[in-house]
Amino acid sequence: VPVSGVVTRFAPSPTGFLHIGGARTALFNWLYARHARGTFLLRIEDTDRARSTPEATEKIFEGLRWLGLDWDREATSQFAGMERHAEVAREMMERGAAYRCYATQQEIETFRETARAEGRPPLFRSPWRDADPATWPDAPYVVRLRAPREGETVIEDVVQGTVTFRNETLDDLILLRSDGTPTYMLAVVVDDHDMGVTHVLRGDDHLTNAARQTLIYQGMGWPVPIWGHIPLIHGEDGAKLSKRHGALGVEAYRDMGYLPEAMRNYLARLGWSHGNDEFFTTEQAIEWFDLGHLGKAPARFDFKKLENLSGQH
Ligand code: GLU
Repeated sequence: VPVSGVVTRFAPSPTGFLHIGGARTALFNWLYARHARGTFLLRIEDTDRARSTPEATEKIFEGLRWLGLDWDREATSQFAGMERHAEVAREMMERGAAYRCYATQQEIETFRETARAEGRPPLFRSPWRDADPATWPDAPYVVRLRAPREGETVIEDVVQGTVTFRNETLDDLILLRSDGTPTYMLAVVVDDHDMGVTHVLRGDDHLTNAARQTLIYQGMGWPVPIWGHIPLIHGEDGAKLSKRHGALGVEAYRDMGYLPEAMRNYLARLGWSHGNDEFFTTEQAIEWFDLGHLGKAPARFDFKKLENLSGQH
């Protein structure tokens, strides 16, 4: 039974293995929820129908179970919430925070080319942004966010600090496609809001998304969650993690004989530290885990460390 209001989530796209980066994200969210005696949720982001597979979802469940990362409540499917996402897009239009855009692909391209030729950023500025809804034709359209053009969007991030985006660099992102399906950006915000998520801890490749998602929260008048964007994991040589290492599914490590306890210890150290402690039990990690000691520098994947830890556990 949760005793605090902290709600975290892991929201993987089921398109492959539960790789090292995903496992670490899951672990941090789980550790923080357990530390705060809150709630840890699992949401399968399966809206990309072409790339999502039930096998990948199974692999994620399996990997999390092996790592001992139990989730509270039943896992949810993002795809199943499509109606709700569309409903929020409609509500945003009623609030004036979104609009129907009828621009064709061709018009958008021409607009961008002209902007480029004139030395302006190639951001599409829809002529439909200020159209009176009474004049909206009965034709195919996408729903776009009416994003502020002036001022700044500020992300307060427990890892990155204060990150400021100039609104003129953000465009009126699409919320609903012309076939009525929601975009990733909309679906994530609606789901996080509806699930009561208070803390979003995820890879820092999502930092710019946080700015855009903030605009959606504001458009709905919803509270923005606390952000924590964790630097991605690099390989031993400092380059992006290769197939040989972290792109492997966690079950590959299970099959190599590593114990979940060692793996958890190892993953926790990829971006979080507790003084100079190298070894700790899961109970200790839960007790000690805090957002203040999430590192800002990219973590290095180091096989030898994992080997050492395996000797300890
Ligand atoms: N489904 C996204 C991914 O796998 C994560 C979205 C999120 O954490 O907000 O990269």
